[in-house]
Amino acid sequence: MAALRGFDSHSFPPRLCRGSTSSRNESPTHRPTVVNARHDPRGKLPSVDKLLREPATAALIARHGRARVVDALRDVLQQAREATKAHGAAPGAKAMIDTCSRRLVEDARPTLRRVFNLTGTVVHTNLGRALMPQAAVDAVALAMTNAVNLEYDLAAGERGERDRHVESLLCELTGAEAALVVNNNAAAVFLALNTLALGREVPVSRGELVEIGGTFRVPDIMKRAGATLVEVGTTNRTHPADYEAAIGPATALLMKVHTSNYHITGFTAAVDEAVLGAIAHRHRLPLVTDLGSGSLLDLERLGLPHEPTPREKLAQGADLVTFSGDKLLGGPQAGIIAGGAALIDTLRHNPLKRALRVGKMTLAALEAVLRAYRNPDTVCAELPALRALTRPLASIEQQAARLLAPLRDALGARYAVWIATVSSQPGSGALPAGSLESRALAAGPAQAHTGVDARALASAFRALPVPVIGRVHGDAFILDLRGLGDEEAFIAQLRLLNLEAPA
Ligand SMILES: *Cc1c(COP(=O)(O)O)cnc(C)c1O
Repeated sequence: MAALRGFDSHSFPPRLCRGSTSSRNESPTHRPTVVNARHDPRGKLPSVDKLLREPATAALIARHGRARVVDALRDVLQQAREATKAHGAAPGAKAMIDTCSRRLVEDARPTLRRVFNLTGTVVHTNLGRALMPQAAVDAVALAMTNAVNLEYDLAAGERGERDRHVESLLCELTGAEAALVVNNNAAAVFLALNTLALGREVPVSRGELVEIGGTFRVPDIMKRAGATLVEVGTTNRTHPADYEAAIGPATALLMKVHTSNYHITGFTAAVDEAVLGAIAHRHRLPLVTDLGSGSLLDLERLGLPHEPTPREKLAQGADLVTFSGDKLLGGPQAGIIAGGAALIDTLRHNPLKRALRVGKMTLAALEAVLRAYRNPDTVCAELPALRALTRPLASIEQQAARLLAPLRDALGARYAVWIATVSSQPGSGALPAGSLESRALAAGPAQAHTGVDARALASAFRALPVPVIGRVHGDAFILDLRGLGDEEAFIAQLRLLNLEAPA
């Protein structure tokens, strides 16, 4: 095996090199280096042609296509030449075809992969936000594999409107007269501003000029939507008179933004929808509230902190509310705008609505999720996001106790493993002040082993077949179990942990 050292797949870059595609039309026998077989072991290396004639290669060609196999064989041969030069002996045809096969399989693997979200952030933007219930999965599969009445009115036999599939449900759940759906909440805010405030002014409290997740910033979206931001009040205190002073002939609407990802405490004042709505209406202006997450349930009833609901804000005085489909609502990525029928109709006729509209898969999933809300007694059990948020602490504790020994066994004596009390976050900017007590498996260096570190552990867990994403806190690696559903799959792959892997 000494001859194959440096020829192990681990020593190659994990992704297939595509650099040779431009030479696809050349003869596969083209070899850049001419060597004398008698004096140089590189001369013993087979040609690409010969490797292509090997029976084992036929299966690779059938699976991956000839062009990819030729490219991969060329890369493998090139590396074999280098390895041979360095180590003196040439790898055999079988070893090279095996390497080629491993690389082709690796390269054919989708880049969007399942992971375990044990970060403690339930609705994690980087990990795909809300998980869908089976009813939504079934509805999406049906819409993907069949013709559907997406924009077709079955009763009238004529063209219909795609948002109608969810509009009446949204009205029922929010108390709005009308509603429409776009790609995400950023698009919802954009469409509302671009439709109602193009070339005009929008006063917003300085305390509400938020940035969400690095790319959604209220001042920036407003500029791109063609509206002029008029800053009102101060960071910590804004009063009704500040809005009154900002309203002028160019004012298009008043806007409130739910400061979903941060919380100001101390000497603060803000103007709520009830007061601001009255001011707006006195000036014949609409009030638009960006709720961010928005919840269709009264979360306090579930033991969670209060999160404003679209129903409550519309009842208080907002004329339009916008919120995300995939935050606390627990549905697919979407932005929902609900409110007065005339305003919604104006938004619907903005040509940008076409550019921002959702596809049939989103509508299918959203309809299924909204239907789940019709039964408030079962919705928490049915929607994975709400189920994770309301998971009883005792259930998490029991799971931690079950997993402690398997994790200890997998990590060995160099690591200490314990159960830690942690706080989960709802995530995606929802419920900023709220954190949920949870339990985590924590691992760190055992006393006598200062050489091991939590980052190396985190990276070993990310390298598992189903990557496990936790977080590093000090010298501990923390796996919050609130979000762990498939316990068996988690345990089954622990034996594959490669703790020797470089960090
Ligand atoms: C999350 C959020 C947005 C952006 O919503 P997306 O659905 O991620 O586009 C906008 N405004 C507020 C207040 C938010 O919390």
